[in-house]
Amino acid sequence: SRQPIMAGNWKMNPATEEDALALSSALTKLLGEETCAIDDSDEMCTEVVIFPPHPFISKVRDAVEEAGITVGAQSIFFEDKGAYTGSVAASMVKSIGCEYVLCGHSERRTLFNDDDMAINKKVKKVLEMGMKPILCIGETKEEYDLKVKNEVCAMQLSKDLVGVTKEQMKDVVIAYEPVWAIGTGLVCGAEEANDTHAFLRTVLANLYDDEVAQATRIQYGGSVTPDSVDGLMAMSEIDGCLVGGASLVAESFGRIINYKK
Ligand code: 13P
Repeated sequence: SRQPIMAGNWKMNPATEEDALALSSALTKLLGEETCAIDDSDEMCTEVVIFPPHPFISKVRDAVEEAGITVGAQSIFFEDKGAYTGSVAASMVKSIGCEYVLCGHSERRTLFNDDDMAINKKVKKVLEMGMKPILCIGETKEEYDLKVKNEVCAMQLSKDLVGVTKEQMKDVVIAYEPVWAIGTGLVCGAEEANDTHAFLRTVLANLYDDEVAQATRIQYGGSVTPDSVDGLMAMSEIDGCLVGGASLVAESFGRIINYKK
């Protein structure tokens, strides 16, 4: 069985450090009994990770650390250091306490031209630095309509995981985020998401083996709300959610991390 992992991707929100800290402290008061923060002895407790914008990571970490919430970075550049104006290295976010890094988010792919080769380098750099990538994949609306969802997801997984060893896969989380469901209010049906996750496990079995396919945690992302979370989490192949909009409202994210089993 796989440990549940609920993540909040704040994207480019909120506008100020003050607001980020207010959201952080509100969140620390909403952790339920099943979260790792409350019951560290339970290996199956729900891991909670939040991804603030880079400038807020340190202070947010200070605000949530004691409550047992982990912080991560929304993006890194794959080079170690040098003349890369505006970029942030893996070592930098590691040194301020990040345990996770999002890699391959669809907004990075489409708005910032992150291609599979760059994403693969980022995944490997994150692992090399001793952090854990959450590798995001998913088809666009057009691809969904063309019924090539599985092919697209299989291709992204294969390309983004080139050179990642079986041993390293213990630290990799996959997030299946259908692009058409992101920020649209169109949540993918729980059964359908579950089928896709099951398919992704067959891809992992081909790339690695059955053990990796069964052990790897796969999150669903795309318009997850307090209303849809229980249905999604009831599915056998869904191990957590990667939440955007709803993670910016403490009560909503609180309800999501305390989903009903
Ligand atoms: P929404 O939850 O706002 O649809 O965003 C999902 C997402 O992209 C999380 O990374």
